[in-house]
Amino acid sequence: MQEIKNLSLKNIESFFIENKEKAFRAKQVYEWLWQKHASSFDEMTNISKEIRSLLKQNFSLSQIKIKNLQKSSDKTIKTAFELSDGNIIEGVLIPAQNRATACISSQVGCKLGCKFCATGHLGYTRNLTVAEIYDQVVIIKQQAEESDLHFSNIVLMGMGEPLLNYDNVMSAIKLITSKQGLAMSNSRITLSTSGINKMIKKLADDNVRFNLAVSLHSANNDKRSQLMPVNKTNPLNELAQALKYFNEKTQSRITFEYLLIKDINDGMNDAKELAIFCKNVPCKINIIEYNPIDSNSFKRSTKEKTDAFVNYLENKNIIVNIRRSRGKDIDAACGQLANKN
Ligand code: SAH
Ligand code: SF4
Repeated sequence: MQEIKNLSLKNIESFFIENKEKAFRAKQVYEWLWQKHASSFDEMTNISKEIRSLLKQNFSLSQIKIKNLQKSSDKTIKTAFELSDGNIIEGVLIPAQNRATACISSQVGCKLGCKFCATGHLGYTRNLTVAEIYDQVVIIKQQAEESDLHFSNIVLMGMGEPLLNYDNVMSAIKLITSKQGLAMSNSRITLSTSGINKMIKKLADDNVRFNLAVSLHSANNDKRSQLMPVNKTNPLNELAQALKYFNEKTQSRITFEYLLIKDINDGMNDAKELAIFCKNVPCKINIIEYNPIDSNSFKRSTKEKTDAFVNYLENKNIIVNIRRSRGKDIDAACGQLANKN
């Protein structure tokens, strides 16, 4: 049976017209799906029993389910969601003062195999549907409200490479930002990519309004290829071209994410190469604390080396933020999402 959440409003309208029902019913159904978060057709109480059973005969209506919930001492909440086919993905609520950010997944696993990333070591199972992406936001938003936090931002930094699930990610963001969905502002959404250059250019051509972050982690081509195999087919010089193109079209500043891994990419020469790479495009750098994972022996950089690295960049007038990890005690921090349960 077809999943009703895979249908657009127009598709549902056509279905009603074909079945000799009024087209305006489609809008009501759509509202139940995307604004009232119905988990069954029976909840759609302003729709007649006959129409509800017509829907039941033709469509399935699935919801992601909370499989497990872990709360960190710093109030970060990591949720394992079970999908209708039994696969598990993870999403995280990250509180900051009285605000909350949702970190959501775009794929089950990831095929890109970055050496430092727990998800990368899982391998790839499948893309998430539009509804599976959207519903993570809905549930994390509810969690925020239950904790009296103002739900403010979304980052696509959970499991998976969002630009390898381009169409569904774009449709989910459209719904999240539309009045028929959650009416959030594009400026509150950040998509993080490992750097799929063709797709970065497509984002530019599609004139997106959300923020773009790029997981850089090294500005040395050979080193980056070792850490991130995706760099072999998307080398740094082409990444720079794609980002310039993105910036010209959208006028928006790129955020580079840079993990500091001890004795791997935290030296002065690494900082120098990074500063040079930053000249390609208006940008800022988020330095991310490395979170150890089970499948490698990488260690977090030391405080001294981190300070020296940041100082070097700041002296080059580059905007640098240091991102301390949240939810470490429950493996909810960046790169640690790997379905340990
Ligand atoms: N695939 C996309 C988005 C998901 S990864 C991407 O790579 O950008 C989200 C972020 O977590 C990336 O910046 C990634 O580099 C970072 N990350 C991966 N492993 C990590 C680890 N062990 N510690 C800290 N951050 C990590
Ligand atoms: Fe995939 Fe991103 Fe992890 Fe790399 S860092 S393996 S691209 S999820």
